[in-house]
Amino acid sequence: CGIVVPVTLLLVGILAILLLTIPTKDVTEPPDFMYGIVLDAGSSHTTMYVYKWPADKQNGTGVVTQHSECHPEGGGISNYVGQQGAAGRSLKACLDKATKDIPKIRHHLTPVYLGATAGMRLLNITSPSASDQILQEVSQTIQSYPFDFRGAVILSGQEEGAYGWVTVNYLLEKFIKYGFVGRWLSAGQQTVGALDFGGASTQITFVTQDKVEDKSIHMNLRLYGQSYSLYTKSFLCYGRDQVLRRVMAHLVKSQGYPSLVSHPCFPMGYNATVSLGSVFDSPCTKDQRPNPYDPNPTMVVVGTGNYDYCLSNVSLLFSFDKCSFSRCSFDGTFQPPVQGNFMAFSAFYYIHRFLQHVTGLTVATPAQLEGAVRSVCSMSLKQLQDKDLEQTRRLHEYCPTASFVQVLLLRGYRFDNFSLPHISFQNKAGEASVGWALGYMLSLSNMLQSESFSVRKALRL
Ligand code: AMP
Repeated sequence: CGIVVPVTLLLVGILAILLLTIPTKDVTEPPDFMYGIVLDAGSSHTTMYVYKWPADKQNGTGVVTQHSECHPEGGGISNYVGQQGAAGRSLKACLDKATKDIPKIRHHLTPVYLGATAGMRLLNITSPSASDQILQEVSQTIQSYPFDFRGAVILSGQEEGAYGWVTVNYLLEKFIKYGFVGRWLSAGQQTVGALDFGGASTQITFVTQDKVEDKSIHMNLRLYGQSYSLYTKSFLCYGRDQVLRRVMAHLVKSQGYPSLVSHPCFPMGYNATVSLGSVFDSPCTKDQRPNPYDPNPTMVVVGTGNYDYCLSNVSLLFSFDKCSFSRCSFDGTFQPPVQGNFMAFSAFYYIHRFLQHVTGLTVATPAQLEGAVRSVCSMSLKQLQDKDLEQTRRLHEYCPTASFVQVLLLRGYRFDNFSLPHISFQNKAGEASVGWALGYMLSLSNMLQSESFSVRKALRL
């Protein structure tokens, strides 16, 4: 027995030495993440975003990142009117993907939100019952998955604008920054305005020091200890697809509803057969319908590629004459002067990228923008095809939509030589897509440090 204790001690010692000398690898535990899902049900298509953040922290900017993104096939949910169950079914492939993307143990803790925007706002105008039916169907589909369903709603235009602004400034860490002292500090930085150009509406949101004369487009937010006075305005029927329809409707009407329509914004060499319904079956073009109206007859549309005619027709979509405030953007809407830097995303980004790519020029000043739009509008279809092979489906649409962007930014919002170069056209910040979705999830899951932050509350919805 006298020898057992020293031998045991010796063995323990040897074991300890062995353990210390065996080369070890640093075993890093996989970070434990939480997840959240947002389905952005836009007018032209839906996108599903999966976000993630370390399970032990959720406050502070830059903490939530985009984990994945999924694009279901087919159009936006509002396009499935009359096809029972189709809107819900269209989301299944992406929701199936989310069940694989997110660890099983987290499924029931993962909030999932569906937010529909201007396509559903329009459907809700034409047929509230059809829009309710679609929301119900998509809700049912989402509820058949193991996630924590938090609702399927139609966002108001102002919510869409404000959440887009939150996303931009969260991703750019304009609210707070993680300081080297190891805690979150007020970034104290100028925020960045948000310009969103969707399929059916466009939004402008920025912080202003000026008095917002129309209270309905003003919002006071308090985030991370700072107060923000936000101007946020959404223009329904001023999204890319509705703008194309409106230009066409105006041309068809002004030419007396002929069977052959000449279109100065479409390039020479372009022609297509379209039905009256594809132009006039929208609340945005309803007023231009012929009387009596039948959606079935078709007309042939021929491109004449004339920048000046195009621009004057596009300008007619805006009304610049009446303003009951000290200053207006257009359509009698109050707008203070634009201020600071802006990020322009969604279709603004696609159109700007196309203008730069096709002309090979930088587009930053008003003169450069006008020059690039003129140049694109003067190209024939063949010249456009030679410059850009990928875009065949949308090629003819760049002249009208770029002309619209020119009028909207320069005459509407009144960006000038000084302010236009302060717009950055981008659809990603870091790894995340820019849009309202991230801001929406952060705010609805109480992940923004705020004294009672809620866009809904600020809007008293
Ligand atoms: P989104 O922000 O993705 O909903 O798209 C807004 C608008 O941009 C819709 O009218 C889309 O059809 C359009 N769009 C999507 N991709 C492109 C693209 N590559 N070029 C031009 N427009 C696009």
